[in-house]
Amino acid sequence: MEHSVQINQTTISLLKGDITKIKADAIVNAANTSLLGGGGVDGAIHKAGGKSILEECMKIRERQGGCAVGEAVTTTAGNLPASYVIHTVGPVWNGGTNNEMEKLRSCYMNCLRLAAEHNVKSIAFPNISTGIYRFPKQLAADIALKAVADSLNRASTEQEPLEHITFVCFDDENFDIYRSKMTGL
Ligand code: ADP
Repeated sequence: MEHSVQINQTTISLLKGDITKIKADAIVNAANTSLLGGGGVDGAIHKAGGKSILEECMKIRERQGGCAVGEAVTTTAGNLPASYVIHTVGPVWNGGTNNEMEKLRSCYMNCLRLAAEHNVKSIAFPNISTGIYRFPKQLAADIALKAVADSLNRASTEQEPLEHITFVCFDDENFDIYRSKMTGL
């Protein structure tokens, strides 16, 4: 693939397009704390994946009252060509003084932790928080790429390695940002 780098045993690639079309073991959803669906990538995932995703989200709500910012939960992927959807709640950008950066990093870290727990070999991430939640795109890309690199460099050797991580950029601006930053990994 054209835009890809290797860290240890994992290939990190860049794609432009719609994450609901990606054949990965897990795709990540940029959800909100209610887990009831919304606009942007969240709306697209629920629409394409069907009602079984929402049904599992409702059960999680009953159990733990939704999902906090920076946390992540796993459901079926319903009709999508993936096995799991990992829903994470990114921070709303509020100037950067409300721990937005740490919270965004936690999103990526918690998704990778859940992926490992489910023995996921391939995972696709959207550009969490960079849509309706207005996180600055350059900064969000730096955080995403560093979180992934740190996690791969730290992964236990007893753990089955993640083979593939894909960053799926929906807009040209994010795609161009990732393309330029991936060469620096
Ligand atoms: P947030 O509320 O976390 O900002 P959004 O869904 O509004 O979530 O935006 C997050 C990112 O997802 C944005 O960069 C947006 O361009 C992108 N996006 C929107 N629809 C899709 C899709 N179908 N596939 C992949 N990315 C998408």
